Amino acid sequence: MSSSSTSSTPVVVYQDKATFSCSNCSTVVALQDELISKAFSGRDGRGYLMHSATNVKHEKKEDRALLTGVHTVADVSCIGCNARLGWYYYKASDQSQKYKEGKYLLERERLIKENKWRLDE
Ligand SMILES: [Zn+2]
Repeated sequence: MSSSSTSSTPVVVYQDKATFSCSNCSTVVALQDELISKAFSGRDGRGYLMHSATNVKHEKKEDRALLTGVHTVADVSCIGCNARLGWYYYKASDQSQKYKEGKYLLERERLIKENKWRLDE
């Protein structure tokens, strides 16, 4: 363990990958390859279920009653601008919802889709 603390958090950048970025500050927050489902509900509208997210920080863990039962979640925010982007599923109480554990729910409204793939012109 290192005792030195860094003042700035390194920002992960993906070259030539399609990504989702924070709509507020354009920090890359997820790879589109990590998308599991678009058919989820966020707090403010549609949500994307993601295998992983990057450049996000986890807020306090809490139990929250969602449409699909009680889940232990933590809000996640953008490290670039602190905007709340969605939440992380630590635990699901309902057996049928266990597949969400360890996954992220990102609010579609907070994301910009950036497609780095090039098409021939
Ligand atoms: Zn941001």
